[in-house]
Amino acid sequence: MKIVILSQNSTLYSTKRLREAGEKRGHQVRVIDHLRCYMSITSYRPSIIYQGGPLTDVEAVIPRIGASHTFYGTAVVRQFEMMGVFTANESQAISRSRDKLRCLQILAREGIGLPVTGFAHSIKDIEGLISIVNGAPLVIKLLEGTQGIGVVLAETKPAATSVIEAFRGLDANILVQEFIKEAQGADLRCFVVNDKVIASMKRQGAPGEFRSNVHRGGKAEKIKLTPEERSTAVRAAKAMGLKIAGVDLLRSNHGPVVMEVNSSPGLEGIEGATGVDVAGKIIEFLEKKAGSSAPRDRIP
Ligand code: ADP
Ligand code: GLU
Repeated sequence: MKIVILSQNSTLYSTKRLREAGEKRGHQVRVIDHLRCYMSITSYRPSIIYQGGPLTDVEAVIPRIGASHTFYGTAVVRQFEMMGVFTANESQAISRSRDKLRCLQILAREGIGLPVTGFAHSIKDIEGLISIVNGAPLVIKLLEGTQGIGVVLAETKPAATSVIEAFRGLDANILVQEFIKEAQGADLRCFVVNDKVIASMKRQGAPGEFRSNVHRGGKAEKIKLTPEERSTAVRAAKAMGLKIAGVDLLRSNHGPVVMEVNSSPGLEGIEGATGVDVAGKIIEFLEKKAGSSAPRDRIP
C-alpha cells in the first residue's frame, strides 16, 4: 500500500514509529509536511501538489496535525477525502475534536460521563456559573490551553470569582468544571484504534499537583481498565467520529468521566509505558480499511 503520513516533522517519535511500522509490513510510506501541500480545486480532478509534483496513487493517509495548524491541516486531509483517499481520521472529526467545548457538548448529548461543566459569556453570570458546578473547589480551563497550561484549581468561591473575572477581562474563553478530587492527580489515557482500546496508561501528577500532564512532571504506567472505562473511551471516540483517538478519563465517584478526546495522540508515552506496538496496530487498521478490496463504511 502507498501510505502518506501528514506530519510537520519526520524526526518526531510518533512519525518515525509509524513510518517504521508501515515499512516493516511492506508498505511504501512517505512523510509529507501538510503545510507544504498545495491544492488544485478543480471539477472532477481535485489534486494535491507537493514539491512540484502531484501526489498520485496514495491509498491511505495518517494525519498527524498539530493543534497550531488545524485549519490548513484539515483542509489538506479534506482534499485527500475529495480524491477518494482513505484517511485514518476524517477531517471533520479532527476539527470537531479540536474544539474542547464542542467536544464536551457532543459527548454530553451521547450521555457519556463528564465532569459537570459550565460555560458563560458575561461576568454578570459568574454566580450562576459557579452554582452549576456546585461551588468551590472548582477547575477553570482556558478553552485554548494545552499541556495543562491555563488549567487552574480554585479552592474557594472568592478565588474562583476573581480568576474568572481576570480571564474574562482578557476576553479569554473559559470552561468551569467540577473538581474531581478523588482522581488524586491522576488520569487515564486510553488509546483507541478502530473502536477498541488497544493500550492504556495511568498518568500521575507530581506530588502536590492536581494536573497529571507528563509535561508537568507527571509519571506514566501501564494500567488495566475496568469494562466501564473501556466502553466509555470507545463511546467517546465514536461520538467524535474518530477511528484513532487518545481519550483522557478521570476516575470519579460517579464513574469514569471524559476530559478530552485527542485526534493525534502521541505514541511515545503510551508505547513506553505499555510496551504495546501502537504504531503497528494503526498500520493494521489501515490494511483492513484502506486496501482496495476493503469495505468502505464512510462516505468520503
Ligand atoms: P490540557 O488539555 O491542557 O492537558 P486538561 O483539561 O487535560 O488540560 O487538564 C490537565 C490536567 O488537569 C488533567 O490531565 C487532569 O489531571 C487535571 N484535571 C483537569 N480537569 C480536572 C477536573 N475537572 N478535576 C480534576 N482534575 C482535573
Ligand atoms: N499529542 C498530544 C496528546 O496526545 C495532543 C494531540 C492533539 O492535539 O490532538 O496528548
